[in-house]
Amino acid sequence: MAFTGNDASLARLAAELQRGLSGYVLPPGDPRYSAQTQIDNGRVQLLPALIVLVDSVADVARTLKFARQHGFRLTAKAGGHSAAGYCLNSGGIVIDFSLMKAIRLEGDTLRVQAGTRWIDIYDYLSANGDGLIPVGGGCAPVGVSGFVLGGGYSFASRSYGLSIDNLITLTIVDADGNIRKLSADSTNPEDIALFWACRGGGGGNFGIVTALHLQLRKPHTPTMLVAQLRYRAEQAQDVLGFYNEWVETLPNELACYGIWGPYADPGSGKTISAFGFTCVYNGDAAGGIDLLSPLFKRDPFFSQINNMTLPQFETMVGRSTLVDGRRAYIRSGEVPPKGLTSGFVTTLDKFMTSAPSQDTFMVWTHAGGVISDVAMDATAFAHRGARFMPEIKAVWPRDDIAATRTNVEWAYNFFEELRPHFSGAYVNYIDPLQTDWKRMYYGDNFERLLSIKHQADPDGVFNFQQGIASAFEPDGRQPLDLSPLNRTFVE
Ligand SMILES: Cc1cc2nc3c(=O)[nH]c(=O)nc-3n(C[C@H](O)[C@H](O)[C@H](O)COP(=O)(O)OP(=O)(O)OC[C@H]3O[C@@H](n4cnc5c(N)ncnc54)[C@H](O)[C@@H]3O)c2cc1C
Repeated sequence: MAFTGNDASLARLAAELQRGLSGYVLPPGDPRYSAQTQIDNGRVQLLPALIVLVDSVADVARTLKFARQHGFRLTAKAGGHSAAGYCLNSGGIVIDFSLMKAIRLEGDTLRVQAGTRWIDIYDYLSANGDGLIPVGGGCAPVGVSGFVLGGGYSFASRSYGLSIDNLITLTIVDADGNIRKLSADSTNPEDIALFWACRGGGGGNFGIVTALHLQLRKPHTPTMLVAQLRYRAEQAQDVLGFYNEWVETLPNELACYGIWGPYADPGSGKTISAFGFTCVYNGDAAGGIDLLSPLFKRDPFFSQINNMTLPQFETMVGRSTLVDGRRAYIRSGEVPPKGLTSGFVTTLDKFMTSAPSQDTFMVWTHAGGVISDVAMDATAFAHRGARFMPEIKAVWPRDDIAATRTNVEWAYNFFEELRPHFSGAYVNYIDPLQTDWKRMYYGDNFERLLSIKHQADPDGVFNFQQGIASAFEPDGRQPLDLSPLNRTFVE
């Protein structure tokens, strides 16, 4: 429920909440309030009644009980990269984890608080990690909490699994304000069920995570071979047709992600629409170059090879896929092995060479490897069979509100044309206009997720527009109803 009282009553409630906290309550007039409402997707501009900068697990439990007592909506914000802005809300309370970023190395595991971002971990491990790496994000400022709860693809996932496959324990505050430690080894069946649901069920659904215990990995070699190659749009059928078959022959140690977007033509200096690959080899440089030679032979107009640690590489490229305060609409799809067919590539070419905004790009994860060795129902993550996970990022300038419909409809139509090729979609690229979203995100795991949700949160404390128990379904008819993009709760 949104707060409907006046300023004086809100100030009284803020003061009451503040008295029991070690962190800070920020009402709208506080000088720190505005910065905390800015998230990666600048299209999302929501104003909560109160933002609470929590400083301890006790702060989280107290804030949750306070929100329940006074009927406030409640959402949690970690890195603030939710594509739809579901970390924020309008008129409710946001639990903001910016102050909770402690990191501790314990042997080959890492304990982190819920506000930690991947860049914090990369910096920490570069100084203290003795070559250990996390199964973490390719984008440095993304929050660990949201990332892990949805699954978590890393450049090292084909070698070591998803982030959730490297999650040892989660500490959460549940819907009643109790602090619970979840793991697969728990003796309490309800904790085991919640742990299952939190591994792929997506952020904001089952409790508020306050800390995560992560398994780290020792890569095969201290540094990895990383290569970036770019090709002209005219080469798409040839190069992507080859790539579609070639990736099936690769060892798990090699991941070749795809990208399509605007690049400077080295000849004319003009911006052209081009595609390419970002490849990371978990092994020695010579072996990596050998494996990648078929891509180099296909005439890229740009190529670059580096030998560096994965955290160094992620820090180097980790801002390139940010929306960074511009406006964006983001969609995703799950593509099975050999799914980048000629028809698929024709659609990519048609839409990417006619994107209405020059800021727009798409990327795709190269999945498989040991990710696919885990059973589909072992965790809530339902996309173990995916080979590629494309994501389109329609991005346009922050001040160009008038361009919203053109860009959203372009991206919508693009992925609707690809829909027959998709077997699902990734909840970490959550899309308020995704029709049939429960099946797309959760496949056959949805019914089990819903039953755990009813058991763990019968009063719907953790609820939002696309929360597990929500009845919301967008209307896919044209012209599209864009209002779901601008709200986080369904009335
Ligand atoms: C530039 C960019 C690059 C990305 N790269 C990758 C990638 O390489 N691999 C990949 O798998 N994904 C990637 N993603 C997707 C990313 O994993 C999701 O956007 C993720 O949800 C972001 O988490 P966050 O904590 O930053 O965001 P938030 O917006 O803070 O949170 C996301 C969701 O989780 C909820 N949540 C946040 N904190 C908590 C908590 N403590 N307890 C419970 N719920 C919580 C929020 O309410 C919200 O619903 C990328 C996204 C972006 C924008």
